Amino acid sequence: MAKIIDGKLVSTKIKDAVKIKATEFEQKFGRKISLAVVLVGNNPASKVYVGNKVKACEYVGFNSIECLMDENSTEEQVKEKVLELAFNPEIDGILVQLPLPNGIDKNTILNLIPAEKDVDGFLAENVGSLLLGEECTISCTPYGVMKLLEHESIDLCGKNAVVVGRSNIVGKPMAALLLNANCTVTVCHSKTKDIGAVCSQADILVAAVGIPKFVKGDMVKDGAVVIDVGINRVEGKLVGDVDFESVEKKASFITPVPGGVGPMTIAMLMENTCACAYRRAQK
Ligand code: NAD
Repeated sequence: MAKIIDGKLVSTKIKDAVKIKATEFEQKFGRKISLAVVLVGNNPASKVYVGNKVKACEYVGFNSIECLMDENSTEEQVKEKVLELAFNPEIDGILVQLPLPNGIDKNTILNLIPAEKDVDGFLAENVGSLLLGEECTISCTPYGVMKLLEHESIDLCGKNAVVVGRSNIVGKPMAALLLNANCTVTVCHSKTKDIGAVCSQADILVAAVGIPKFVKGDMVKDGAVVIDVGINRVEGKLVGDVDFESVEKKASFITPVPGGVGPMTIAMLMENTCACAYRRAQK
């Protein structure tokens, strides 16, 4: 039976460390670290995510600025809001909650965020630096996965890692991080042939597909470390991309859903915001 990796516990440790750094920041620079979240429209899932981010800010002692904009806001109005935050020296991080309503171009908006305030690590400048192995802001979810692996002292060097999913915010940065950690990395996606055979070679298997219970026990090698990034709502319940029941019998480590990668994403957002604040303040 696999050891269940406790993302709640690890995320709390990370947030507690951020809390200390946030207090020191306030003492040193005479203001609180500030994170601005822009939410356009009434997407219920987005509202929940933003609510969780605000709670985490309260926990670590950040100032959180919620910019709630009407569903019918124009692209111009959203641009103005993001630019205002970009030029405000007291704002350390800007997060635009996705998805944006139809008619507002995601890239046009995101590209207005200065790289030094890109706490999500989504901008080309940060993604490029990640590929080059340089210091940068790393996308929160894959960064959180790396912290879980580190917390469990899982040796990555020379291991076969398979990432299922190639999205810009999870799959691709995940693959880059594992490569930087000396894994031999394979990325699977919707056009990959015989995914089961590829997955069964993995020492480290990360599922970020968005299909409930996609990874089954017969796709997993004995002793593999299985990380489930998926969050799917099925009949009102949260379900991951991994079929927990069949996979936990074969894996050496597994993350649960909920309580695995999910809480790590928010903890890493706090960590990224703190790092951005210090970088700007110490310039
Ligand atoms: P996405 O839809 O942008 O990407 C999904 C990827 O899966 C794509 O690259 C696609 O090629 C691949 N894919 C789709 N169908 C496939 C198939 N049949 N076989 C193989 N690959 C297939 O999704 P995303 O934003 O990367 O998110 C993935 C999952 O992770 C979702 O469940 C999402 O809710 C979850 N997620 C969780 C967190 C968290 O904090 N835990 C954060 C972001 C995303």
